[in-house]
Amino acid sequence: MINLETPKKFRLFVQQANQVADNFLRSNSRKYDLAEHEYPKELDLLASLIDGMSDSGQSQGAGATGVRRDDDDSVEKGKIKNGTNMSSVLSVIEMCWGDVGLLLSMPRQGLGNSAIASVATDEQLERFKGTWAAMAITEPSFGSDSAAITTTAVKDGDAYILNGEKIFVTSGERADSVVVWATLDKSMGRAAIKSFVVPKSLPGIRVERLEHKLGIRSSDTAVIVLENCRVPAENLLGSPEIDTKQGFAGAMATFDNTRPLVAAMAVGCARASLEAIRELLEEAGVVIDYDRPASVQSHAAATFIQMEADWESALLLTLAAAWMADNREPNSMEASMAKAKAGRIGNEVTLRCVELAGTLGYSETEMLEKWSRDSKILDIFEGTQQIQQLIVARRLLNLTSTELR
Ligand SMILES: Cc1cc2nc3c(=O)[nH]c(=O)nc-3n(C[C@H](O)[C@H](O)[C@H](O)COP(=O)(O)OP(=O)(O)OC[C@H]3O[C@@H](n4cnc5c(N)ncnc54)[C@H](O)[C@@H]3O)c2cc1C
Repeated sequence: MINLETPKKFRLFVQQANQVADNFLRSNSRKYDLAEHEYPKELDLLASLIDGMSDSGQSQGAGATGVRRDDDDSVEKGKIKNGTNMSSVLSVIEMCWGDVGLLLSMPRQGLGNSAIASVATDEQLERFKGTWAAMAITEPSFGSDSAAITTTAVKDGDAYILNGEKIFVTSGERADSVVVWATLDKSMGRAAIKSFVVPKSLPGIRVERLEHKLGIRSSDTAVIVLENCRVPAENLLGSPEIDTKQGFAGAMATFDNTRPLVAAMAVGCARASLEAIRELLEEAGVVIDYDRPASVQSHAAATFIQMEADWESALLLTLAAAWMADNREPNSMEASMAKAKAGRIGNEVTLRCVELAGTLGYSETEMLEKWSRDSKILDIFEGTQQIQQLIVARRLLNLTSTELR
């Protein structure tokens, strides 16, 4: 084992996040898995506590809202820094050790909030403070290929008129605004894709239906329709200019900050499974001995050691991607590496833990079966594993998205 240590300044914070995850998330985990689409009201109290701590500067949220790149001079050349990206990742790991679906349901901590935190101007950041924002990219005609967006945004005076349909929007029903990706001009390709903060109170945006899912059942997943929805022009995130040189880079920048968060979700969920299976194995008399080669130990012990090593590598990549963001280093490739590795390891570890526990693993008396269902989505959304591998390959081979697809 590598035994990575939590940076000293975050140790107390991580401990507190773990207690919160235990008391608010883990304890309600099964309840809201069974009661799909029911609002997890226990989270309201937790969200207000987190808001209070954020306002007083004691915390940077449960995860999603903290992912802003510092542009002050606190990052001196050659001086390492652990900042908001690292604390967000560490917090998300603990919360998803508690419950992934409930973390995704946390008021004011949506994936749209990460987008706002990543790319909004200071003025927008202030104006959207306190909103709960979902993120709507996917459409009926595409998933992975976000350049294929057909939702349109047409400038009309001091507003944009949005039309289109978005599917699989996490927190789409419960959030009070949605960060909608739309094209200003389909003929201009990727460069014309912009994101807009669309308050759900506006006329012309509606939730069409909710999905039933394999896992993360406590999280609502909505279909959202935009029909002549008039959105104030100042709600466009980033620059309104269509910069064909920059292409998609502006919109995609969000992912450099959010992919490590989704990797952190997978790391947290897999750790829950590892801890549970370790207890079950030890109760069954299996000895896990780090001082002897795995090859001479029982199959269960050897499998556990191998899973733990894989998990450590996913954790290391996740921390590295967050650290790079905190230190203003370009991290697109590392963010994708972390997401690909952690997504895959999350799936493999949680399912293997079900297998090792046999009938207990498959039964609802344990949480193992639930964690294996919950972890599947973490290898799919924010870019599937295959898409992350494609991004890494493009970076390594220095090829464009047209040259390698
Ligand atoms: C529970 C849930 C929540 C979600 N939340 C959100 C959300 O909040 N906001 C949002 O916008 N979207 C959300 N999504 C959508 C999610 O991001 C997409 O499902 C994902 O991007 C994959 O798209 P797809 O399902 O259309 O699969 P496809 O793109 O059709 O891919 C199908 C398979 O082909 C593979 N594939 C595709 N292209 C390539 C390629 N070039 N090379 C190799 N393999 C390839 C994929 O990896 C995948 O295995 C959510 C989805 C789910 C299930």
